[in-house]
Amino acid sequence: MTEGDTQHTQQQRSNGARDGAVVWLTGLSGAGKSTLARALEAHLRSAGQRVEVLDGDEVRLHLSKGLGFSREDRDTNVLRIAYVANLLARNGVVAITAAISPYRETRAKCRALCGARFIEVHVSAPLETCEARDVKGLYKRARAGEIAQFTGVSDPYEQPERPELVIPTHELTVDAGVALLVEQLRARGLSG
Ligand code: ADP
Repeated sequence: MTEGDTQHTQQQRSNGARDGAVVWLTGLSGAGKSTLARALEAHLRSAGQRVEVLDGDEVRLHLSKGLGFSREDRDTNVLRIAYVANLLARNGVVAITAAISPYRETRAKCRALCGARFIEVHVSAPLETCEARDVKGLYKRARAGEIAQFTGVSDPYEQPERPELVIPTHELTVDAGVALLVEQLRARGLSG
């Protein structure tokens, strides 16, 4: 039983729901979390696996509407994502999360909530690569001082110390990254 499991859930699970997984993609803005999440989603879905993506930017438009980027607000956002991901995963879904989730301590809380379902994946392109990509033009704005508390520029990114997987997207293709993720899931009987 994990922190995220209630007694009720335990009963449900003993009635047959098979565990999915929480694929927790963490890394700098522009590292490739959303790209990998969508590519993995497509792969798993076509293989018949139930899958859901929780994208940090999208969650901020709905479940976390109104939250900012202070440490407290970021933590609230990330813990909400973990909570929902765990609900899905304990009912057989592979929940893929794409959120910077910069703080080690907060990710540890997510792991505690999800227990063995949690697969921490460091999407690990270096800052220079992410900044050169600047997919959303945010680094440029952060360097110009237009965005405060921007991870990697004016707010820290605390690298995972013992993630289940590291995906260096500056060295691998998207397909190669997906293959590494599928390998992790296959080991849990979840490749679809
Ligand atoms: P994030 O969600 O981490 O902010 P995005 O997925 O939105 O990052 O953007 C990453 C960018 O890097 C995309 O434009 C993507 O096409 C590009 N990219 C290049 N190589 C890779 C790779 N191997 N894996 C993932 N993304 C890659």
